[in-house]
Amino acid sequence: MQRFHVHNFGCRASQADGAALETALAAKGLEASDSTQADIVVLNTCTVTATADDDVRQKIRRVHRENPDARILVTGCYAQRAPEELVGLPGVRWVIGNSHKTQIPSLLDEPVPYHGFVQVGDIFEQHDFFSAPVEDAAGHRTRPNLKIQDGCNNRCSFCIIPFVRGRSRCAPADQVIDQIRYLATRYREVVLSGINLGRWGREPGSTVRLADLICRVLDETQIERLRLSSVEPMDWSDDLLDLVATSPRIAKHVHAPLQSGSDTVLRRMHRKYRPRHYEDRIKRARALMPNAAIGADVMVGFPGESEAEFEESRAFIESLPFTYLHVFTYSDRPGTPAAENASQIAMPVRKTRNRILRDLAAQKNLEFRRAMLGKTLSAVTLDHGALTGNYLQVELATPRPANELIEIEIGGVTPAGLREHSSLLVIQ
Ligand code: SF4
Repeated sequence: MQRFHVHNFGCRASQADGAALETALAAKGLEASDSTQADIVVLNTCTVTATADDDVRQKIRRVHRENPDARILVTGCYAQRAPEELVGLPGVRWVIGNSHKTQIPSLLDEPVPYHGFVQVGDIFEQHDFFSAPVEDAAGHRTRPNLKIQDGCNNRCSFCIIPFVRGRSRCAPADQVIDQIRYLATRYREVVLSGINLGRWGREPGSTVRLADLICRVLDETQIERLRLSSVEPMDWSDDLLDLVATSPRIAKHVHAPLQSGSDTVLRRMHRKYRPRHYEDRIKRARALMPNAAIGADVMVGFPGESEAEFEESRAFIESLPFTYLHVFTYSDRPGTPAAENASQIAMPVRKTRNRILRDLAAQKNLEFRRAMLGKTLSAVTLDHGALTGNYLQVELATPRPANELIEIEIGGVTPAGLREHSSLLVIQ
């Protein structure tokens, strides 16, 4: 029996693709194994930054060094973007783009005409996508992530994703319901995700929206907690925010990528909203949900970002009730308009701006955690500790099995999260 190993890089969407691939290979009768023992090693790659690309190339070299007989198949976003950078690396037998990812199980049956076989097609012709629920990226056997949308029709000037994942497309509602029905028999919480999740349902001729799908999930499944991953700011409609605020089965967690709080930088990024629009959504979320987690992705060092623009962005972020931030340093992606811009920001300046926003994020997060002292929060137990609906890690007073929905009284603040006070009550 042939043995295989799948290694995933990158975001939740990539993890979901990798899980689907593992399921498909196992269904063909291949046996999952360690990368050092596998006959076929699949590297499901990410290309979001130059560092992500470096990680993939390093991993290929390591796999080949540790297991020279393994046939390496490279797929995912890096394979789609730049197959020529991967095909000559040692041990690489196949480079298969996202355009052909769903065909990998059958491609493995076909004789490979030569070492370094490349199959990358037009991603914009892709109408389906690969997805299976995956367990928590942190390795907890809890909180599976279900990808219900792939691709993106936007053209943010820094982003390579539309070129490696194609047009926006969605999983059918009935399929989502069936998958969540099944997951609800095993888990308390399911995380809905996508490349541009808020676009779910927005296909030509369709009037259903993400909020409608969530209502169906709540009505037709027993899932105890749903969490939405990232939703673009303008897709946080009043309907969606009201639903999250009023349903006790939806985690009070709003994540809306901001990227910059500077009007002019947002324009150059080709983002579709201005700071005032973003502010309106975040303030509405906070007014409806005083204890909700509110988070954003922000980018520093976008080409041409002046000191004044950075300060405008920093002050805007400071003024909003964020509870956490994911701070990214701009990295050129060949093929994007931003990479052609001559006004690249010096790396030391990018790093300084990154640190300033990380410090601001840490301060806001600490204030939020302190505000939780004495409150009772609903949480899902993990392998270690628990995660609250409002996205805070809690150290438990006594260990509990993973996958329970519990109420926790908060007794303390730890360096990275919270500590349980004493009482513990299982909700049944
Ligand atoms: S919304 Fe913009 S940043 Fe997000 S995936 Fe689409 S193009 Fe990329």
